[in-house]
Amino acid sequence: MDIATLPFQKVLSEEESRSLETVDVYISDVEPKETSQVLKFIQENCPQSKTLCHVKRIKKTIHSDGKGFTLSVLICLTFSISINELKLLIQKQNLDSILNPRVHQISKYPAITRTQFEEWKKLWPINFHEDPRREPNFTSEEIETLKSHMIRAINLAEMAKSCGEIAVGCIIVDSKSGKVLSESYDKRTSSKHPLRHATLNCIDELSMPERTSIPAASDFIIPNKRKAEDDDDQTYLCKGYDIFVTHEPCIMCSMALVHSRVNRVFYGRSNNLSGGLGSCYKIHTHEALNHHFKTYKGFLEDQIEMLEIDC
Ligand SMILES: [Zn+2]
Repeated sequence: MDIATLPFQKVLSEEESRSLETVDVYISDVEPKETSQVLKFIQENCPQSKTLCHVKRIKKTIHSDGKGFTLSVLICLTFSISINELKLLIQKQNLDSILNPRVHQISKYPAITRTQFEEWKKLWPINFHEDPRREPNFTSEEIETLKSHMIRAINLAEMAKSCGEIAVGCIIVDSKSGKVLSESYDKRTSSKHPLRHATLNCIDELSMPERTSIPAASDFIIPNKRKAEDDDDQTYLCKGYDIFVTHEPCIMCSMALVHSRVNRVFYGRSNNLSGGLGSCYKIHTHEALNHHFKTYKGFLEDQIEMLEIDC
């Protein structure tokens, strides 16, 4: 399914959502037959930087009338050498008739997403290797399954509301089998306990393998609780599992999702006050943390909004 028609949006990391930032370089137009000589000169005489690995050395510009083209070559970063020093180097090698450096701007960073690539290459050609794991393709059938899970989370939020609780519902699903392993809602009001958030309750459910019922959720089929198969699974309760939650998890719940090694998170409404997966922080992509997961927002958001209006 095309990314533009998905019923949710990926919550991008800082790198993925970065806007164009530029850095100044020297470039020069060159005649095609002199290109190899110029490249040799650059390689042997000009300061080179590893930070330019993402850009191409040569740019080809087709003339607007479609007849002919101009080749331009990237020489080096401007902060590595002054223009006068560079011109002296060029003169020394008797290349001043074929090299005439001028300052140009290029993208400072490599493009991570196709959107960045399409935009940033307009300045100067850049290398781009699309990682298919970054933008997974969802089939229509998969979307319908994901929707049914989200609707189940919304039903739980409705149930919470009818019980006088805060209307947030959550389920945990085995992403391979599609089996619902745990479901809960916010229980802060009835428990008078500040930590009884829907997401934490759901994770807590997974740690209780013998549990057979969920209070006030008797209308729902209670799934068989999984038995932890090894030490790793015992430590990482949500390994390989997806979470569907009506509202963006708070920072505390987001950290619990990191610690339990969740596979993916789908949520509906953003939480601008304390959301940890997009609004206040992007904990799922934080470089300093040792587990990262994909997060998608805006899923069936309208239905969740209606639920809040009804409150
Ligand atoms: Zn929370």
